[in-house]
Amino acid sequence: MENKKICYKCLLEDFDENAALLTVREMINAMPAENRADEKEYRRRLDICKNCDSLISGTCVKCGCYVELRAAGKNRSCPDIHDRWNREG
Ligand code: SF4
Repeated sequence: MENKKICYKCLLEDFDENAALLTVREMINAMPAENRADEKEYRRRLDICKNCDSLISGTCVKCGCYVELRAAGKNRSCPDIHDRWNREG
C-alpha cells in the first residue's frame, strides 16, 4: 500500500485516517524534547479531550487542531474559553 504524504494544504478527502495518524505521530516525534509535554501530562490532556463535546474525529472543533498534536506541546493550552486542561474542579 502506498504511504502517501499529506500536507497542511491537503483536504480530508486526500488522505485516510491512518495516514493522518502517522503524520501526527511524525510531527510529535519531530518536536524537540524540551518542547514536549511529558507522557503523564499528555495523557491527562487527552483524557479530558476524550470527554469533551468539541472532540470530533481526533480534531478539536474549537481550533481545528488534531488534539494529539496540540496536547503534545508543553506550552500549549486548550483553546476553549474555559481552558479545560487547566481549569480547577
Ligand atoms: S476544547 Fe479543549 S478539551 Fe475540548 S477537544 Fe478541544 S482541546 Fe480538547
